[in-house]
Amino acid sequence: MLISGQLLLEDATASPAGRCRIAPGTLRVRDDRIEEVIEGELAAAADWGGPDCLIVPGLIDTHLHLPQFDIIGAHGLPLLQWLDQVTFPAELSWADTDHARAAASRAFDQCLRHGTTGICAYATVHHEATAAALRLASDRGLRGVIGQVLMDREAPSGLCRSADRSIAESADLLSRFPPGSRIAAAVTPRFAPTCSDELLARAGRLAAETGAVVQTHLAETVAECERVSVLFGGRDYAQVYADAGLLGPRTVCAHGIHLDPGSRRRLAASGTRIAHCPVANSFLRSGTMLRHELLDAGVAVTLGSDIGAGYERSMVRVGRAMIEAAAGLGGPVPAAATAWHAITAGNATAIGWDDAGRLAAGAMADLLIIRPDIAWLGLPIDPLARLMFAWDDRWIIRRFLRGQTIN
Ligand SMILES: [Zn+2]
Repeated sequence: MLISGQLLLEDATASPAGRCRIAPGTLRVRDDRIEEVIEGELAAAADWGGPDCLIVPGLIDTHLHLPQFDIIGAHGLPLLQWLDQVTFPAELSWADTDHARAAASRAFDQCLRHGTTGICAYATVHHEATAAALRLASDRGLRGVIGQVLMDREAPSGLCRSADRSIAESADLLSRFPPGSRIAAAVTPRFAPTCSDELLARAGRLAAETGAVVQTHLAETVAECERVSVLFGGRDYAQVYADAGLLGPRTVCAHGIHLDPGSRRRLAASGTRIAHCPVANSFLRSGTMLRHELLDAGVAVTLGSDIGAGYERSMVRVGRAMIEAAAGLGGPVPAAATAWHAITAGNATAIGWDDAGRLAAGAMADLLIIRPDIAWLGLPIDPLARLMFAWDDRWIIRRFLRGQTIN
């Protein structure tokens, strides 16, 4: 199969490293992978695309909550009240596995409609519902990790599980959806306030034994950090996770807004990833993450929608929000190419998917064909910036998962 158009390519020579560029060309796809990238030529007999089309890898979202697609837009509450009044009731409804399966299906539909083909997702504490979401994601051809949420306190009783039960159920999912699979289970303690020391420590051991991705939240709001200090005897938030063996290069901590320099150094030394979620941060008025300070400290930063506190299902608009958040701080402003890199190869590499998020020989053929309805080429203006700021999801005219078109 040949796909021709303007290819979004990684530019390893650009500074700062990891930007991307646009060049005309053709992808030759065989089975589920890109076999060859032919730069400079538009194939006359291409099966898909055209000279006015942009060909990009599927977008990757490193932080979202499947049950929260049904509560997007619940505005006006800070994090802890939003959890109690809006989020936990929605997650309780996943006790009904049929309801959960339907909700997960709607969530996957929305991801794909908006061009997201790779996800790091939270389900709920419900074992059967999480298993159903994993099975459905696998059947739909998505790539990603999905975790059964671990909580044993500070949440409604219907959302708390003993450490014994939580760890046994997570281990069961990891045996059925092993790390490294296209769809894998993840170890997912929600965040320190809802997890006892014992639960965190056993989650850390399970992740070390299985090589699973770890997902959690860190330092999203000041009130949450104060609660952690009370619950953990004054220990620093990042240190709580470090003590439980939960930090490391397979760990994605969402937010990381309210961190002191010592915590940033601890995160950098451990290789922990911080998922920056700018839309959710402004929505819950949690604060603005100092992305450039984390990068300067050597912390690996990914990008996430954090649906449903994040109301944007498009990772392009999340990338735009990253630019706007940095601009609001008055510091260095990332270029559009940096944001595009973040939602494709940057996110993929950070979570260990070296064959995702890029148009390269051998990469998985999870692809989008985009046909903008603006004159985006030929002007002396950065075309990526034009696309990102004028973005319209209706421009996505075709999606491919594993080399197969899905629309
Ligand atoms: Zn979250």
